[in-house]
Amino acid sequence: MAISVLVINCGSSSIKYALISERREDRIYGLAENLGAADARIKGITVGGEALELSIPYADHAKALETLLERLANYNPQAIGHRVVHGGNITQAERLTQQTIDRIRDAIPLAPLHNPANLIGIEATMSLFPQLPQVAVFDTAFHQTMPEHAYRYAIPQFLYTEHQVRRYGFHGTSHAYVTERASELAGQKNQGGWLSAHLGNGSSTCAVWNGQSIDTSMGLTPLEGVVMGTRSGDVDPSLHLFLANNLGWDIQKIDNMLNKESGLLGLSGLSNDMRTLVEASEKGHEDATLAIEVFCYRLAKSLSALSCGLPRLDGLVFTGGIGENSAYVREKTLAYLPHFGLQFSKENNDTLARGTEGRIDAGTGPQIWVIPTDEEGRIAKETRQVLAQIA
Ligand code: ADP
Repeated sequence: MAISVLVINCGSSSIKYALISERREDRIYGLAENLGAADARIKGITVGGEALELSIPYADHAKALETLLERLANYNPQAIGHRVVHGGNITQAERLTQQTIDRIRDAIPLAPLHNPANLIGIEATMSLFPQLPQVAVFDTAFHQTMPEHAYRYAIPQFLYTEHQVRRYGFHGTSHAYVTERASELAGQKNQGGWLSAHLGNGSSTCAVWNGQSIDTSMGLTPLEGVVMGTRSGDVDPSLHLFLANNLGWDIQKIDNMLNKESGLLGLSGLSNDMRTLVEASEKGHEDATLAIEVFCYRLAKSLSALSCGLPRLDGLVFTGGIGENSAYVREKTLAYLPHFGLQFSKENNDTLARGTEGRIDAGTGPQIWVIPTDEEGRIAKETRQVLAQIA
């Protein structure tokens, strides 16, 4: 039987949704935003591809979900798949039971901004639709295959054994989808060694061997790793001490600065948005030029580091808003990786249409792909798999 899955991605003041049928290519999708405020609204695309905008003043998560689900009821979703950011040491998607909900709650200290919002969405849909099976798909689960030497920090053991301090990694559904898709297009689905770069407002890299994550750039939190829109990525851990001793900053101020005022925004002093920076750089904005250079260099450095975990490199994949759309960032990053033996095709890179899959190497050496990510599609697929296993 073809199953329509409603995918819910619940943030602190917004809910992304998508209704994904196995049979129909058309998707119904959209966003409920500004929840709790006077201008709360739902913006989306209906099944005919038409734009939908609906005002829902002061609606909270439950009210917004109720409105959404009333509108979608005609399409008869048979299951709900929730994106959950942190699953602790859960290794795969799970049907939502009280035990799974407790484990999501237990992981709140590891994702204090995301997991509580995810739980609000889960609780609202469970009380509104108690008859529908619901599945949690975790951002962290794909990376649970990392070997211990990749996920442990070199800090005292008890912090791991008693407090679960280790590297978890995020963006798992995206890395899993794009590397599976690229390897499939290369004619060797889930085989060989692949590197992926998910580059959006949050960015991370991942090394995948025979379909399994073996290392990734994000760690205990999504702050570790490459340069992001407003996040610093890796810094010297003693930066905290330096700022506390010399500027009198407390830990909250430092954390806020590293998460919200750093990255492309901090370096450029202009914007966290790559498109804005590329345009400014073309007009001679030196700090924008530097921000892009640091972003590309540090990305290449991360890909090089992760390649150590791969017995062989078969290909590299770019995805996320920047990876899918910026030929300039792709070219600059690849220029820092001459030792990978990549044969870059500038022509393919420059002519690849926005939002399309395409190969940007010249046909020899490791393949280089641009794959638009599909986290919702992957969540729907994993939801169906969980339900099939327990049917
Ligand atoms: P999120 O992580 O919030 O899902 P996205 O994956 O949508 O973010 O990526 C957003 C980023 O993609 C922004 O920095 C935006 O500037 C960038 N982006 C989108 N289109 C382009 C483009 N044509 N050139 C450069 N950057 C782009």
